[in-house]
Amino acid sequence: MRADMLKKELQIFTFEDLLFYFPFKHLDKTQIHTIATITAGMDFVQVRGRLISMEVLGEKRGRRLVAHLRDGSGIIELTWFQGINWVQKMLVVGNEYVAFGRLSFFLGKPQLSHPEIETLKESNEAGKNFLEPIYSVTEKLKARGLNGRALGKLMYQLFLVLEEKEITENIPLTILQHHAMCSRWNALKQIHFPKNYQQYESALIRLKFEELFISQLRWGMMRSARHRYSRGILFSKVGVHFNDFFHQYLPFPLTGAQKRVLKEIRQDMGSGIQMNRLLQGDVGSGKTIVALMTMLIALDNGCQACIMAPTEILASQHFEQFSKLLNPLNISVALLTGSTKSAERKSILKGIEEGSIQIAVGTHALIEDVVKFNNLGLAVVDEQHKFGVAQRAKLWKKNTVPPHMLVMTATPIPRTLAMTAYGDLDYSVIDELPPGRTPVTTVHRLDDARPQVMDFIKAEIGNGRQVYFIFPLIEESEKLQYEDLMRGFENVKAWFPEPMFWISMVHGRMPSDQKEINMQRFVRGETQIMVSTTVIEVGVNVPNASVMIIESAEKFGLSQLHQLRGRVGRGSEKSFCILLTSNGIGKDAKERISIMCQTTDGFKIAEKDLELRGPGDIQGTRQSGAMNFRLADISADRGLLEQAKLEADKLLKSDPDLKKPEHIALKTFLQSDNADTPWGKIS
Ligand code: ADP
Ligand code: MG
Repeated sequence: MRADMLKKELQIFTFEDLLFYFPFKHLDKTQIHTIATITAGMDFVQVRGRLISMEVLGEKRGRRLVAHLRDGSGIIELTWFQGINWVQKMLVVGNEYVAFGRLSFFLGKPQLSHPEIETLKESNEAGKNFLEPIYSVTEKLKARGLNGRALGKLMYQLFLVLEEKEITENIPLTILQHHAMCSRWNALKQIHFPKNYQQYESALIRLKFEELFISQLRWGMMRSARHRYSRGILFSKVGVHFNDFFHQYLPFPLTGAQKRVLKEIRQDMGSGIQMNRLLQGDVGSGKTIVALMTMLIALDNGCQACIMAPTEILASQHFEQFSKLLNPLNISVALLTGSTKSAERKSILKGIEEGSIQIAVGTHALIEDVVKFNNLGLAVVDEQHKFGVAQRAKLWKKNTVPPHMLVMTATPIPRTLAMTAYGDLDYSVIDELPPGRTPVTTVHRLDDARPQVMDFIKAEIGNGRQVYFIFPLIEESEKLQYEDLMRGFENVKAWFPEPMFWISMVHGRMPSDQKEINMQRFVRGETQIMVSTTVIEVGVNVPNASVMIIESAEKFGLSQLHQLRGRVGRGSEKSFCILLTSNGIGKDAKERISIMCQTTDGFKIAEKDLELRGPGDIQGTRQSGAMNFRLADISADRGLLEQAKLEADKLLKSDPDLKKPEHIALKTFLQSDNADTPWGKIS
């Protein structure tokens, strides 16, 4: 009966499940305080004494039961506002009790409100030489008498029958010793029933380390298995395409970071093993050119290449940029999206299949089954956070030997998150912006400062600059937001009337050819103002645009704001980002906006985002489940994560198949059913 409830309510099916159901706090009832020694700094206290009075005071909502307990040293007041009748019945003036509760002071006198009360007999039976664990339980369980303390009693019984040998150690002894960590058995015992808070802390650290270490080990084994066994197309040379482009047509010198990353990529592709590399770089760090040059290496080795972007706007922008840059090299580039007309689509599909098209640029349209490559050697995925793992996997299947994969993301992911969410990928980072950029100045303005803001924009446009107005468009209330956008558009128009100013508008509901026309007019400078929703967020590049106004900025997440801001500051002109909000925005929104005003460093912003929202909410990682640790928090415990990764890498280097005798237990653990991590079993 109790077992059934535990199954239903807490998904506790086995003793092992119970063992791994950890308390959320402990109460320290190991000591009895003498009343005279109680001071204001104490949190919870436990006292023992004789009940000397008990009476009901006050009326209606002020009604309360007040009692006094006296020990040899003084008197403490006990108060109840609820359950008065029941407490009255239970307690007898003149008897001795033990009371435990949160301490407060009233008019300089100590008191406990709603204390737990036990008779001396009950108190002695419980034998308090450890902290009492409190578990979270559901309302239903509580109603059946299985509350957070009762579960503790159950746990206590479990430990009475459990033996040390039943809990196998899964971390090699040398690692435990090196980090002075306790054994698995001790950790489990102490996380439930520690003798003091230090014991609890060290148990917690050990178990967090275990989670992180095991997950890093799994990722590491996947990586190393791929490195050792998976086939890849050997790109043995760098040929005319790459060299011609590099020496004659490269529009600017590469930054040091771009060069370094290209080298890492060339090493991967020249190894005969499939490349699987995550390329991170803040907005505007110049990932596109790196992707392009990587594609040229593929072409030099007789292969085709493709790049998949999340939106049509972005895909067509890549297409145009590539066509222009590659024009002198006589390379055939094609654009394939959902709105490619059917006659053209047919000929493009044919060209891709025959190999006459060397570079295919596109959206999701590229991964459809009808798209058959002649010899795809490299697939680039731009703005990875917009795609799922499944879509990446589809690209793998476009060739018998899987193509090399370059996965690019402009939402900087904190290193720790990358380690846990994309641990199967190798990792490169462009940590340097192209020279000559002046950082975007970001300010927060309230709605009533609108006239000044508009004057400022007029002046900027007068100087030949272009401007973005961004409105939130949130799916849940799309219709309403759409109307907001239209109203916003009319507003902007009222401030900036034609024919003095020309305005483009782009939003998700617009047919894509119309989107394209509007976008192109802005790109060509025919319109000075772009009114848009976040469809503009990813990748779009209009260097002459130097001001971005974000309306209702409180409605955007941090990384989204950062992405949006990345649309300006792409040229040599001084750029501005103005975050408009009304007066009464919430605390979190205020913090997001203040961070935006303080820094333009995408990695700092990402760390902050992780801190504010937790990993579950970071774009694109929600589905992966790779961060669902029971105890560890990859933001707060990043130090521990770094150590775990170090140890896992070191171990795999010395013993990649876990064959050494001291690693057998670990291997067995990794293979066992109950090694419950999101990655499942290893083979
Ligand atoms: P992102 O990494 O956000 O995709 P892009 O590849 O779009 O950034 O590059 C942003 C801008 O910087 C583009 O206009 C690009 O031409 C320019 N750029 C890239 N690399 C360099 C460089 N090494 N020197 C000067 N400008 C560069
Ligand atoms: Mg980009």
